[in-house]
Amino acid sequence: MKCIMKCNKKENWNHLFECQAYEVAWEKILEITTKESIIIYLKQKQIRGQGEDFIRKVLQNILGVTAKSEKFQKFQQLALEVKVETFLTTKLQKDFKISLTEAQTLMANILIGFILAFKELI
Ligand SMILES: [Zn+2]
Repeated sequence: MKCIMKCNKKENWNHLFECQAYEVAWEKILEITTKESIIIYLKQKQIRGQGEDFIRKVLQNILGVTAKSEKFQKFQQLALEVKVETFLTTKLQKDFKISLTEAQTLMANILIGFILAFKELI
């Protein structure tokens, strides 16, 4: 199977992460996932106490600021196997000062948001 972006290399999972042709798509996926996660968090908490800038910063700490960042590269590889590193959930819990259950729910929703964006764009 060849890369659908026509770079003429063989298509496999690693190629999706490495191929330059997918770079724009990954940036979009990160952007969408971050935006959706802010909305999900606000819905889950039902409060507007914490500003969106703060929420965005916490999420960028989890997902990374750019698709090229080490954080996002780790996140995307595991997320496609529907996995997340445990310390990231703990980090959400601490930074947002929420319960572990709330953090797990939030992380599960972030993961779903990511997968939906991935399916749409790649
Ligand atoms: Zn390619």
